[in-house]
Amino acid sequence: MSSVEYIGIGKSFGAVEVMRDISFKIEDHQFVVLLGPSGCGKTTLLRMTAGLETISAGDLMIGGEKVNGVHPRDRDIAMVFQNYALYPTMSVFDNIAFSLQVAKKPKAEIRKKVEWAAEILNLTDYLKRYPKELSGGQRQRVAMGRAMVRDTGVFLFDEPLSNLDAKLRAHMRIEIRQLHNRLKATTVYVTHDQIEAMTMADVIVLMHKGAIVQMGTPDEIYERPNSIYVAGFIGSPAMNFIEGTIDARGGAPSFEAPGVSIALPANSTARPGQPVTLGVRPNDLAIAEEGPIRGTVILSETTGQDVQLHVDVDGRDTIVVVPRAERQAPGKPLSLTVAPEAVHLFDRQSEARIA
Ligand code: ATP
Repeated sequence: MSSVEYIGIGKSFGAVEVMRDISFKIEDHQFVVLLGPSGCGKTTLLRMTAGLETISAGDLMIGGEKVNGVHPRDRDIAMVFQNYALYPTMSVFDNIAFSLQVAKKPKAEIRKKVEWAAEILNLTDYLKRYPKELSGGQRQRVAMGRAMVRDTGVFLFDEPLSNLDAKLRAHMRIEIRQLHNRLKATTVYVTHDQIEAMTMADVIVLMHKGAIVQMGTPDEIYERPNSIYVAGFIGSPAMNFIEGTIDARGGAPSFEAPGVSIALPANSTARPGQPVTLGVRPNDLAIAEEGPIRGTVILSETTGQDVQLHVDVDGRDTIVVVPRAERQAPGKPLSLTVAPEAVHLFDRQSEARIA
């Protein structure tokens, strides 16, 4: 049983409160990603989980037991650090074996475990090498091997891929997720990279300024962001936002802004006259003969299969992703359409989602 539960967790450094009232539970075997911009507190929360940082308020439970004051060594956790923290003067074998050697495990058992981890991580041929003789991806795997042999129920990852180039990062994402599917250790994974979060997580915990702003599956967070902040953070290229008001003349509610008039579903809870921000993802916009959004093409950027059109809609740069064949010349007037279910609506004052 290796659930992890945070109950009203807070953290202050001296007089400065950097985190407050963090409460959520990670179930046994779950892969949870703590996501957020630099400084939001995700690393601090992970370090508190590991026991490397004290807890200022609240309770931390691992496997149903309160571990607030428990030494890192005595928690049911293994941590993989951003810089891997390998010992440069030790071979790969000794790096992976280190915690078992310290615990004075029998030699045969140590060898068996290291060979098991090396086999899974494709490191069997590298056990005699030293860290400086390895590629970045191989070093990353050695760091994971060190965590794997410890027989713990919870893996903690602190931005483990940030030192790798883009291609290797994409590859290691898959490796770490496959490793999790195989070992099923409860995993808490910290990153500021939303693609890592979207592709790896069972559940994303999105943090901002020391608090949780939304928690849910990648699909839930992408499809129903609960605020403008979340909507703008998740998705690439980022969601387009247009400020306007709700009009109910003629019975059906609509969103109105200069150059834009979009019919809303009849069951929308937006109030007539309410100042709102409409959000629409670049992939949800399409070129149409007679669309409700009118603008002028500023620029076409080819990204490979797709083209990102920058369209000036009443002075706002609105991004539209279209197939290559629909590339447009700058200066061309254009009208755009969006499916009603792809429209996100937020109250402009509270910035919260309107149902
Ligand atoms: P990053 O992605 O840049 O690592 P993060 O989301 O992990 O950011 P934290 O490192 O957890 O953020 O930091 C959260 C807040 O706590 C920040 O405002 C940071 O300045 C502050 N902080 C972190 N460690 C300390 C410390 N030892 N002393 C004082 N303030 C700290």
